[in-house]
Amino acid sequence: MRIDTAALRLTLGYLLLAASWILLSDQLLAALGLSAAQQDHLQSFKGLLFVALTGALLYLVLQRHARHHRRARLQLADNEERLRLALDATRDGLWDWDYASQRVFFSDGYAALLGLTPQALGDTREAWVARLHPEDRERALQALDAEMSGAQYENIYRMRHADGSYRWLHSRGRLLRDEAGQPQRFIGVASDITQRRADEDSLRQAAAVFDATQEGVLVTDPEQRIVHVNPAFSRITGYAAEEILGQQPSLLKSGRHDAAFYHSLWHALQSRGAWSGEVWNRRKSGEIYPQWQCIRVIHDEQGRISHYVAVFSDITALKRSQRELDYLAHHDPLSNLPNRLLFTERVAHALERSAGEQLCGAVLLIDLDHFKHINESLGHNVGDLLLKEVGERLLAAVPAGSTLARLGGDEFGLLCEHCAEATQAAELAQRLLRCLDAPFRLHGHELYIGASIGISLFPDDAASVEQVLRNADSALFKAKSSGREGYAFYVQELTDYARQRVELASSLRHALDNQELRVYYQPLHDLQDGSAVGMEALVRWQHPQRGLVSPAEFIPIAEDNGLIGAIDAWVLEQACRQMVRWHAAGSALRFVAVNVSSRLFGRGELEQRVAQVLADTGLAPAQLELEVTESAIMEDPDAALLLLTRLRGLGVRLAIDDFGTGYSSLARLKRLPVDKLKLDQSFVRGLPDDAEDAAIARAVIALGHSLGIKVLAEGIEQAAQADFLRELGCHYGQGYHFGRPQPVPSQPIGVPEATQAERASTGD
Ligand code: C2E
Ligand code: MG
Ligand code: MG
Repeated sequence: MRIDTAALRLTLGYLLLAASWILLSDQLLAALGLSAAQQDHLQSFKGLLFVALTGALLYLVLQRHARHHRRARLQLADNEERLRLALDATRDGLWDWDYASQRVFFSDGYAALLGLTPQALGDTREAWVARLHPEDRERALQALDAEMSGAQYENIYRMRHADGSYRWLHSRGRLLRDEAGQPQRFIGVASDITQRRADEDSLRQAAAVFDATQEGVLVTDPEQRIVHVNPAFSRITGYAAEEILGQQPSLLKSGRHDAAFYHSLWHALQSRGAWSGEVWNRRKSGEIYPQWQCIRVIHDEQGRISHYVAVFSDITALKRSQRELDYLAHHDPLSNLPNRLLFTERVAHALERSAGEQLCGAVLLIDLDHFKHINESLGHNVGDLLLKEVGERLLAAVPAGSTLARLGGDEFGLLCEHCAEATQAAELAQRLLRCLDAPFRLHGHELYIGASIGISLFPDDAASVEQVLRNADSALFKAKSSGREGYAFYVQELTDYARQRVELASSLRHALDNQELRVYYQPLHDLQDGSAVGMEALVRWQHPQRGLVSPAEFIPIAEDNGLIGAIDAWVLEQACRQMVRWHAAGSALRFVAVNVSSRLFGRGELEQRVAQVLADTGLAPAQLELEVTESAIMEDPDAALLLLTRLRGLGVRLAIDDFGTGYSSLARLKRLPVDKLKLDQSFVRGLPDDAEDAAIARAVIALGHSLGIKVLAEGIEQAAQADFLRELGCHYGQGYHFGRPQPVPSQPIGVPEATQAERASTGD
C-alpha cells in the first residue's frame, strides 16, 4: 500500500505537538505551585483548549482538502470533455482495458465505428475478439501479446460492422503498469481507415499501371512544364525522365502539323476538356513517328486547371501492319498488281475526278485468248508463271500514271485517266497486244499467247463504275467474238473510227516512202480584175485502198505522230519547184502559198528548212507565201511573233489562214509582220444574204484596210459572193467559183480559160 508522506508528516507533527503539549503543560502546571483544586481547574481548561485548537486545525485542513478535491474534479471533467471532443473530431474511439477487473471500456465513438452502442458491443475482451475478422484474429492477438513487453502498441485489423461488412481499424495504445511493474490498464484509441486503405490501394494500383503500361504518359503543370513521365514514355520517345522533366512538350513536335492543327487541339481541350487523335511526333533520335494521343485537362477543387495528362501509344507498327494488310487486301499475290477491289476504287475516283475536271479516260479489259489450254496442257505452275510474265510485259507497256490490275484468272484491267480520244485508247490497246507478240519462254516451253481487249470510255459511255466495267466487258465480248485485231469499243462507231485512224496512222508512216502523197493546187484570184495571182498548195494522200484522202483527215494524225514535219517539208519543196517551173514557163503567177502546221512553231528548224528549200530550188523568197492558221498563232502568240519575224527576215510573204476563227487580239495583230488575212470560209458561206456573215466580212475587210494588210476571202463558190466581196473592197478570193484544187495543170495558169477547165474537174 502506498503511504502518503504529506499526510504522514502532518500526523507525526501533530503527534509530536500534542505529546509535547501534554507533557510540557502538565510540568508547567506543577511548576506553578498551584493548589490541587486550581490545578484540576486549569487541567480541564487546558484539555478544552487543546480540543478547540486541534478542532480548528482539523477544520482548516479539511476545508483545504475539500477545495483541492473540487478543483481537481472540475479539471478532470474539463479534460474528459476535451478528450471526448478530440476523439469526436477525429472520429476516433477510445478503449480502456482494466487488468484488475478484466473489463474493457469502449467509448461511444468506438462502438459507433462498428455501428453499435457500447452496450451492444459489450465490455469484455472476448466480445472484441468475436468481432475480429477470422483472417486477422491471430495476428491481432499476437500484436496484443507483444505489447506486454513493448512500449507502444499499434495494430491494424478488420472488425465486423453492424451491417455485416468488415471495417479496417487502426488502433494505437499504451500499457500502463503499477510501481511493481504489473500491467494495470491498457488504453488507446482506434480509427476507421477503411476508406484510407481503399484510397491507398487504388493509388498503389494506379502507380503500378502508370509504371507498367505500354502507353506513354506525360503530365504537365498548367504552364505546360513536364512534371511527370512514365517508363513507357522514355521507351517510346528515347528521353529519360531527368532529361525531359521541366521541359515543354513542344520539344517533341515533328513539324508535320500546321498551326490550324494545334489550334483545333487547344480548342477541344478548352471546350471539352479532352482531345484525342493522331499526332506525328519526333523521337530523341530524330525519327518522326505516329502516335495515338489522348489529352485530358485536370482541375483542382477550385475548378482551376492543375494539370494536363497526355496518354499516347506508338502506332508505327500498327500503321505498318495496316499498310501491309491494306496491300494484301488490294493486290494480287501472283502478279503483285492491284486487284479488282483496288481497280474498282481507282475507277470510282477517276470517275469523280473526270466529272470535276472534265477529263476523259478509258477502261480497258484485257483477256488472254485460250489461256485455259495452257493451264490444262502444261499445268497450273506454267500457267501462273505465264500470267506473271504477261503482267510484267503489260506493265512495261502502259503509260505512266495509269493503273494496271489483275482482275482475276486471265483477265487484266487498265485504267487510263488521260485519254481524251478514242484513238489514243485504240493505240494503247494495239501497243498492249503487240507487247504480247514475242514468245514466252517458260520451263523450256516456247509459248505464244494472244489477248482481246474491250474498251469503255468515260464519262462518255457511262457515269458509274459498274456501268463502265460492264461496258468494257461487253466490248471485250465483242472483241472476242469478232476475232479481228483483238480490241473493240463499247460504242461500235468508235471501234470503226478508232480502227480507221489507227490503220491510217500506221499506213501514213509509209505514205511518203511509197510516194503516195500528192500536191494539188488551187488558184487565188484578184477580185478586182479577176486574174489568178497565186496558187495554194494543198496536200492529198493517194491511199492504195481508200483512194484520195483529205488533209483534214490525215494532217491531225500526222501532227499527233510527228510525221507532219516531213510532210510539210516535202510539200514545201514540191510547191517551190513547181513555182520555179511555172515561172520558167512564163506564167504570170506572183507566188505559191504553202500551209505550215502549228506543230512546227515550237521547233527552230522551220526557218532553216524554208531557207534551205529556197536555196535548193532557187525560188525568189518573195514568190513564196507561208500560211499559218490564226489558232496556231494564238496557241503561243509570243513564239509566233518571233518565228514570223524571222521568216519575214528571209523575205517570204506571210498570210494568216482561217482568219476569224482564232480570236486574235487586235493589239497583237497590229504587231504581226503579215501581208494577208485569209477570211475563213465559214463567214463567206452565207454571203451575201446572211447579215452576220456580211457584218463580219465587212469588219475584217475594213480592218485589213486600216492595218494596211490585204484580205483574201476563202471558199467563194458563187459569183454573187465574189461580187459582194469585191464591192466591200476585198482584194483577193479563193474557192470553187474560181477553181478547185487539182494536180498540176498541164497548161500554165494565169489565162482565164484555165478556170473553166478546173471548174469542170471534180478531183476534190
Ligand atoms: P486551208 O489552208 O484553209 O485550205 C483551204 C481548204 O478549203 C482546202 O481544203 C480547200 O480544198 C477548201 N476549199 C477551197 N475552196 C473551197 C470552196 O469553194 N468551198 C469549200 N467548201 N471548200 C473549199 P483541203 O484541201 O481539204 O485542206 C484542208 C486544210 O488542210 C487546209 O485548209 C489546211 O489547213 C490543211 N492543209 C492542206 N494542205 C496542207 C499541207 O501541206 N500542210 C499543212 N500543214 N496543212 C495543210
Ligand atoms: Mg491554207
Ligand atoms: Mg483556210
